[in-house]
Amino acid sequence: MKVSLIPEKCIACGLCQTYSNAFDYHDDGIVKFTDSDELVAEFPDNDIATLEAVKNCPTKALIL
Ligand code: SF4
Repeated sequence: MKVSLIPEKCIACGLCQTYSNAFDYHDDGIVKFTDSDELVAEFPDNDIATLEAVKNCPTKALIL
């Protein structure tokens, strides 16, 4: 699955990292990928933790 970040929608709540280590934050708290500075990254379809993070982002700053 491919996950996209929409940083303009991120409210820096920090929730996504409680689900998955795939997500980290810039100094201002805005989401980034842990292993990449790109806005799109590929994850295994069975990466349930990352899928849960996407589903639970309150502002839809993470999308499949
Ligand atoms: S859960 Fe959504 S709004 Fe919260 S830090 Fe992660 S991407 Fe940003």
